[in-house]
Amino acid sequence: MIDESHLVKTQELFDKCKTVVAGGESSYARLSSTRPIVMSHGKGTRFWDVDGNEYLDWCLGYGPMIFGHCPERINKAVVEQISERGSMYTFPHELDYEVGRKIVAAVPSVHLVRFCNSGTEATMAAMRLARAYTGKDKILKFEGGYHGWSDANALAYHPPIDNAGPECAPWPVRFHAGIPRVQEECLVIATYNDFEGVERLVRENAGELAGILAEPIMANSGVIPPLPGWNEHLRKLCDEHGILLIFDEVITGFRMALGGAQELYGVNADITTWGKALGGGFPCAAAFGGRKDVMDLETRNEVFHGGTYSANPPVLAAMNAALDIFMNEGDTVYPHIKGIADALCKGLREVFAEAGVDAQVQQVNGMWQVFFCHQPVTRFRQGRVNDGEFYDHFQREMQARGVYFHNYQMERWFASTEHTMADVELTLTLAREAVAAVKAKLGRVTVSAH
Ligand code: PMP
Repeated sequence: MIDESHLVKTQELFDKCKTVVAGGESSYARLSSTRPIVMSHGKGTRFWDVDGNEYLDWCLGYGPMIFGHCPERINKAVVEQISERGSMYTFPHELDYEVGRKIVAAVPSVHLVRFCNSGTEATMAAMRLARAYTGKDKILKFEGGYHGWSDANALAYHPPIDNAGPECAPWPVRFHAGIPRVQEECLVIATYNDFEGVERLVRENAGELAGILAEPIMANSGVIPPLPGWNEHLRKLCDEHGILLIFDEVITGFRMALGGAQELYGVNADITTWGKALGGGFPCAAAFGGRKDVMDLETRNEVFHGGTYSANPPVLAAMNAALDIFMNEGDTVYPHIKGIADALCKGLREVFAEAGVDAQVQQVNGMWQVFFCHQPVTRFRQGRVNDGEFYDHFQREMQARGVYFHNYQMERWFASTEHTMADVELTLTLAREAVAAVKAKLGRVTVSAH
């Protein structure tokens, strides 16, 4: 067991960080952690904190590390690029073509791409492109959907649900300070998996809507899979009303399948965004792309997109190496990841059932999350009234046993090519212990309004 009160170096270093870095960390998502880990290094499925504790990692840097920590082939490609050919060009280079051609080959709805530096940038660019193409200002997005931290998107993410309007037409709640009120006017908010609601909102706003922005699997409010026909429904609505379908595949792209969630559900987007897995664990890999007639606005420079570091050589070298693995070894990569996730999710369901705990382990291929409630969560607001306290204690008990997944339940768990069945077994053994410890501590099993 890792004793939190003995994380001496962790506490010391974190306190030092806080003297110069506001909050000690540089992302809101990490700041939400009440149990800081100050990391020393990582390798494969494990990482170590500065106190020398080892953790089995199911978070994988929020998803990018699909080949685990320190992936040799990605690192080799990057090191070769920067040591032999340089790290900054700001001119087109061979890797622009190589990576571009591979993305276009992998994702049938995409004819042209542009590179950028984060998922946030990719979705900002996609929204602007949709607005430019249609000449309309509004974008419909879903409550609980996360598409980055830009002004355009930092609304209706995880609002307090008792103050966010009706579920059939949620309000565009500006959750944090500093977002201009005018942004509210640029968004229409709908409820994910509410077929009638989204149809009505699209119809009512059709004259002003540029597009629907959606994760094809809602993966930032736990994991909420689309109900059968949901992505098809969005596609149909867009076609009927002459608006664009933007799939934010920052999480799902190159992770769910080579062609992303679009391949899984057989629904093409007009514009797609990628990040995370695209770089195979190397940071700042991101891109957006789409149909030729849409992307031609970028070709003609009619819509503004830039970035000193866009398409920089090291990140393209990483993407190139990652795409080679996805394309040449996809037949083993994707089944392996899914196999690990299937086994772990099945095992977790058994662990919770044996303990008499109401739990929903919601999984799509190599990604999943646990809600502590009676029924499957199909809508964002249902997930918000599960037994979050039980989850919090469960996560804490697991972290103390050296198994790491994010403490914020709206994040999710990920599997990598490096995870083994032994990792699954170890996790399940410790989960059994952790659940017993939580029951003892809380003196109850789960309670939930859903
Ligand atoms: N879109 C989705 C679906 C995401 O999950 C994220 C990040 N979690 C983003 C966009 C933003 O990506 P980044 O953190 O690289 O800016």
